[in-house]
Parts: sequence; structure tokens; C-alpha cells
Amino acid sequence: MEVDSATVWTDCLEVIKHQVDEQNFNTWFKPIVPLRHEGDVLTIQVPSQFFYEWLEENYVPILRKAIHSVMGEKARLEYSVIVDSGNQRNPALTVNYPTGNGRSPVNNNVPNGNANLEDYTPFQFRTLNPQTINSRLNASYRFENFVEGDCNRLARSAGLAVAKKPGVTSFNPLMLYGGVGVGKTHLVQAIGNEIKQKLPDKIVLYVDQNDFTNQFLNALQNHKLQDFQNFYLQVDVLILDDVQFLAGREKTQEMFFHVFNQLHQTGKQIIMTSDCPPRDMKGFQERLLSRFKWGLTADLQEPDFETKLAIIHNKMQSDGIEIPTEVAEYLAYSVDTNLRDMEGVLNSLIFHATLLKKEIDLDLAKEVLKNIVKEIQSDVSVDFIQKTVADYFRVELEAMKGKIKKREIVIPRQVAMYFCKRYTQLTLALIGENFGGRDHSTVIHALESVEDMMKTDANFRNSVEDLSKKLKVRMAS
Ligand code: ADP
Ligand code: MG
Repeated sequence: MEVDSATVWTDCLEVIKHQVDEQNFNTWFKPIVPLRHEGDVLTIQVPSQFFYEWLEENYVPILRKAIHSVMGEKARLEYSVIVDSGNQRNPALTVNYPTGNGRSPVNNNVPNGNANLEDYTPFQFRTLNPQTINSRLNASYRFENFVEGDCNRLARSAGLAVAKKPGVTSFNPLMLYGGVGVGKTHLVQAIGNEIKQKLPDKIVLYVDQNDFTNQFLNALQNHKLQDFQNFYLQVDVLILDDVQFLAGREKTQEMFFHVFNQLHQTGKQIIMTSDCPPRDMKGFQERLLSRFKWGLTADLQEPDFETKLAIIHNKMQSDGIEIPTEVAEYLAYSVDTNLRDMEGVLNSLIFHATLLKKEIDLDLAKEVLKNIVKEIQSDVSVDFIQKTVADYFRVELEAMKGKIKKREIVIPRQVAMYFCKRYTQLTLALIGENFGGRDHSTVIHALESVEDMMKTDANFRNSVEDLSKKLKVRMAS
């Protein structure tokens, strides 16, 4: 007489229990329901496709060992996967396949588009509806207020292409990377907002690493992984911001890997951001990194002066505030940490202008800046900078301050202007005044030349750093 499947499976569980820790046992083995035991074949039912894949990938040796020791060497395992949990009217749909071959199962019993998911999502989500889903997008991040510059041109164009045809272009996944405050979040949210507006039937979801990780851990603890996965698989456009935070999180990566594969296979769009390109990402499974490179990887760089100016004007305009060019230029140069600091400065200016009814001028800008950006130093004088720089390059002080256009004079002059900008609070116009009455655009040009030369000429950069030390000694004393 054949032993019934429940008994066989209970014996298997006894073996398995000693091979995995309690949490994994509860998550991955307890939900399994033994269905049939016929000859050498034990059929078990698992709650989802994902569940099946997870078992196949992580627990085949353990499962094999268990059924062999309970049923003998010839024993085989077959899965019955619930594709839809069904309800009273519609029984569960299942799909069967044998274990251990690692292939993607062929689903011969796919539910049609109206498979009823309503009763199936006890996790905090139910069936997603594109009209009502909370996409977690901030409506103020749009393409219209994303300023284009050399620093972001490729990323922006790729973003626009993806927004027009999500999942259809070869930019899938679209991976944008760059440092803090370069506009990654703004851009990916703009893509999401654009899609929602133009293609209202698409389910768009923006998640940051916290959302994804916390939901995942929550689901793991509450044995709701299949619900978690089902939720994500309904999404047409998945935006995952700051993926670098998944580094070292093995299980979360594993889950993301599955979600990624299934979305990608079904032509859904995936958009990600990171602080560095995939090749430099540490703590990631190789197979995940290789997928990150499948589509298009584009970088965003620190904005240049012109782009910063445009961003400042853009932001102030959208708040209905006039900002004098002089003030905008002062900010574009002075706030050289990142655009998030810039946003803080601008918000503070807006606050002063609208609520305290102050006029936005240089004095106000300086005051605001002093409170926000600490690095700005003011205790070294233009005279001292000019003298130190002239001595260093062995040129006549008066010549350097004058109008001579010889290269050996022009470079020290530009360097002196550069330090005036860095270490004093003078406006560009006032710096120009101190160098023979030049206008602010000449000063801007000087600053840009110095920055360019520092990038390309190591000797020059060393000189500037040397000088910087000399000036700082003075400031500290
Ligand atoms: P990241 O995600 O790369 O750290 P954010 O997208 O949060 O940077 O950008 C920081 C701030 O700078 C945001 O207020 C954003 O709106 C603004 N910003 C960045 N780039 C641009 C741009 N090209 N045009 C307009 N605003 C920008
Ligand atoms: Mg961001």
C-alpha cells in the first residue's frame, strides 16, 4: 500500500528541518502543501511561480536529499504552482513541472487577463489600478523644469526616449549614475510623471531603496514573499532610486533579481539610479550587475556654471521671484558643493523674499549663504591674495593687477581671481574691480580657465594647491 503524500512530506520536513534555519524553514517549507504521492513521484504545491524559482535556485540539494532519504534513490519531486489563488467561483489555476532542471518552466495553464487577484493580496497592496495607484512620484519633478546642460544631455535624452516608449526602446534597464545632487532623482521622477501623464494605463512605481528593502524584509518576516512579488510584477514601469544601497543585501538582491528578470522578460521598463557605474559597484551579485548593463548606462555630472545659472533662474521663476543676475552669478559660483545645497540656499532666499518681504540682493544672498555653506571664508584680503600669488609666480604685482595680456602674467592673474572667489566674499564684479576694472564676465572666464587647467595639467594643479596652503595658513593664524 502506498503511503499518503502528507505522511511522506512530513517525513521530508523532518530531514529538511535540520538543514535550514528556522526562519527559512518557516518561509520556504511550511507553506508547501503535499498533493500526491504516486510511485516515485511526490507532487507538492507551492504558492507562486516565484516561490518555485526560489526553491529551485536555493534548495534543490536539500529537497533532493530529503526525498531520497524518505522515498529512495529513484524518487522525484514535481511542483504544482498556483498561478492564481482563485476564489470560491474560480478554482485555483496551477501549472506543473518537475524539479531540478533549472530551466524556466513552461506555463501551460496561464490565467487570462482577468485572473482574479482581488482576493489574493493581503500584503499591504491589492490589485493595482493605474488610476488609483500611489506611484510615489513628486509631481514637481518634471522635464519642463529639468535644465539641460552638457552635464546631463545623454541621460536626459535617454530619459525622454524611455518616457515616450517605456519598455520598447533598447534602454532597458535605464541606469543613471552620478554624485550627490546632480539630478538623478529629479530626472527619473520626471520620466515617471511624463509616462503617467501620456500613458495613463501604465502602472508606474517609484521606490527608493528604503521602500524596497523594508517592504521586502516585512514580507519575509510575515511569510508574504509571494504577495510582495506579485505586487511588483504588476508594475509596468519600475523606478528604483539609489540601488547602491542594495549592496551586501543578499536576499533583497535575490528578490530584486527575480523581479527584474520577470519584468524585463515581459517588456516592462526598469529605471535605476546609482552613485557609480555598474562596473564599480561593490557588494553586488555578478549576475545582477551584468543585468544592470543590459540596457543603457548614462552618467550625470556636476553642472557647469551656465547650467547652474539656468537652474537658479528656473527655480526662482517658478516661484514667481525675480533674482538679479548679479545675485544668481554669485550663487552659481559660491555654492560649489552640490545642487542640494543650492536648493537649500534658494529656498531660504525665497523664504526671506516672500515671508519677510526682503529684497533679494547681494547682501541678503551673502547672509543666507553664510548660514548654509560653511566653507566660505572671509578673513583673507584681496591684497594678501594678490601679493602671495604674484610672489609665488615671480611676477610684478602691479603688472598682475593691470591690463597686460602676456601669458606669464595672465595665468597668475587668473589664479589670483580664482582665490579671491574662493576665499573672499567679493562679488564677481568687485573682484574684477580689483584687477584693473575688469567686468564680471572676465572674472568668470578666469575661474573657468583655472578649473580647466587644474583638470588637465598636474603641475599647474600642484601650484594651485601649494598656494592654497599658503593662503590657508594665513587664514588660520
Ligand atoms: P540626486 O538624486 O542626483 O542626488 P536630485 O535629483 O535630488 O539629485 O537633485 C538635487 C536638486 O537639484 C533637486 O532639487 C533638483 O530639482 C535640482 N536639480 C538637479 N539637476 C537639475 C536640473 N538639471 N535642472 C533643474 N533642477 C535640477
Ligand atoms: Mg537622489
